[in-house]
Amino acid sequence: MKIICIGRNYTAHIAELENEKPTDPVVFIKPDSSVLPKEQDFYIPEFSNDIHYEVEVLVKIKKVGKHIEEKFAPKYYDEIGLGIDFTARDVQQKLKEKGLPWEKAKGFDGASVVGKWVSKEDYSDVNNLNFSLLKNNEIVQDGNTNLMLWKIDEIIAYVSKYFTLKKGDIIFTGTPAGVGSVKTNDYLSGKLEGVEMFNVNIK
Ligand code: ZN
Repeated sequence: MKIICIGRNYTAHIAELENEKPTDPVVFIKPDSSVLPKEQDFYIPEFSNDIHYEVEVLVKIKKVGKHIEEKFAPKYYDEIGLGIDFTARDVQQKLKEKGLPWEKAKGFDGASVVGKWVSKEDYSDVNNLNFSLLKNNEIVQDGNTNLMLWKIDEIIAYVSKYFTLKKGDIIFTGTPAGVGSVKTNDYLSGKLEGVEMFNVNIK
């Protein structure tokens, strides 16, 4: 299983990190070992002093595909989820300055929170889903998939030009504005269309 992440997919988040708006989706991959085991706490790694949460809508691929046309993309997923792309922002910043890959900042153990899955049929429109992240029960990020620069079907078409998608692969579709850091004893929870999809304690 691989995790494919889209960066800079929401205009307001691009602005807050002072990044340039990309002409193509920013794509990176996290290893399967980055998935935080269910019910497990997130431990701030010793190599970072600035771990950021990024809440993101997830898509689970259900069958193998390559060079998928956008119009056929819906045949390749039927479950939607919500998760966190934890990012060691201080590590990432140093890597970015040197033009180096981001894996150490985003692919470390526990860096991918994957919440529960819901059938896409339960939603009238996957391109109009409200989601939010709460820190200590206060909303810190909220977004709607209608604000994505690249919608789910476009993402699937784009990434499948480069990577064969396999059953069980997960796509992280990018984070809206409001990213911020966590500290020990914080409690994060994520909601999709008002329903809690995950919660995690920070240690
Ligand atoms: Zn992200």
